[in-house]
Amino acid sequence: MRGLELFLSLMLMLAAHTACAGWLHEDADIMGTRITVELFHDDTAVARQGVDAVMAEMRRIDSDMSPWIETSELARLNRDAATRPVIVSDELFKLIRTSLHFSDLTHGAFDITFASVGFLYDYRKGVRPDDRQRQQATELINYHNLLLDEDSHSIAYGKPGVRIDLGGIAKGHAVDRCIALLQAIGIKQALVTAGGDSRMIGDRWGGRPWNIGVRDPRDEKKLVAVIPLENVAVSTSGDYQRYFEENGVRYHHIINPTSGDSARGMHSATIIGPDATTTDALSTSVFVLGVEQGLALVNRLPDIDAILVDAKGQLHYSDGLLPAKNPANNVKPPAPHPQP
Ligand code: AMP
Ligand code: MG
Repeated sequence: MRGLELFLSLMLMLAAHTACAGWLHEDADIMGTRITVELFHDDTAVARQGVDAVMAEMRRIDSDMSPWIETSELARLNRDAATRPVIVSDELFKLIRTSLHFSDLTHGAFDITFASVGFLYDYRKGVRPDDRQRQQATELINYHNLLLDEDSHSIAYGKPGVRIDLGGIAKGHAVDRCIALLQAIGIKQALVTAGGDSRMIGDRWGGRPWNIGVRDPRDEKKLVAVIPLENVAVSTSGDYQRYFEENGVRYHHIINPTSGDSARGMHSATIIGPDATTTDALSTSVFVLGVEQGLALVNRLPDIDAILVDAKGQLHYSDGLLPAKNPANNVKPPAPHPQP
């Protein structure tokens, strides 16, 4: 499993859950990533309904928002919006509006028009644009090229060649939607994960908090921190999730909008916050901003914390997690022999 690894003392807890009626755990591969749901309801039929609702919602969002599915709403937007305004669903309109909010907040570090150059990379095949192609396409990266009309819920692209991709925020959005669906059917204890984005409500079996492990970006078997959490969201962005190497340079999927090249200021950024849409957007943003600017941003946002692994493998914590500044902080040293 890639991204934020959920070392929930996994095997032991799975055994415990199966022994405990009402707890269900299921994994599936959707949205090009691993989806995990773990939840409790004392009526097993309701628990089952919850798991099924999560998987169906993940599939729905993938088919609406994947840029790679030709029939998706997002693909249609990318095809037509440079020639005429395209009316989109409330959900897509709002998510794009939220993306622009994070672009403003991060002075453009988060920018869904990164895809204007992003589509030239194929990390599986080791394909990247040459310098000239990259520079030309990078001129199209600018979220101000997206023109949103609030009245008609239509979107137009200001220049031909502009493309968007919601890969930095859609998984978090999907996790939030799933949590809302679970709450609507009366589920009060759940963890939903989509790749590197997770959100949990309530506590776990036996009244314990959920344990979220932040993996070592250069060794998937090791953890750099374990955080006991309840009722929050956590997202990790890392340079190990999708990448290839060429002449010792790592080309990975998080793009610095000013260069069109991979952002290389750190190895991973983990963000803790109230909802997964926010933590997803901010983990990508902080990764692009680098340690200094990223921590400065996090420290001025209420209810947001961060654990960063810099390009030398050093750990950095936001003020809210530092014992000196917050004696009640929860971060534990990694377990001595973590189980994958
Ligand atoms: P995450 O794992 O949440 O950091 O998301 C990484 C994904 O975000 C990439 O695969 C791209 O789809 C997208 N992305 C890459 N660079 C940016 C950027 N600068 N702003 C917004 N989204 C980005
Ligand atoms: Mg993200």
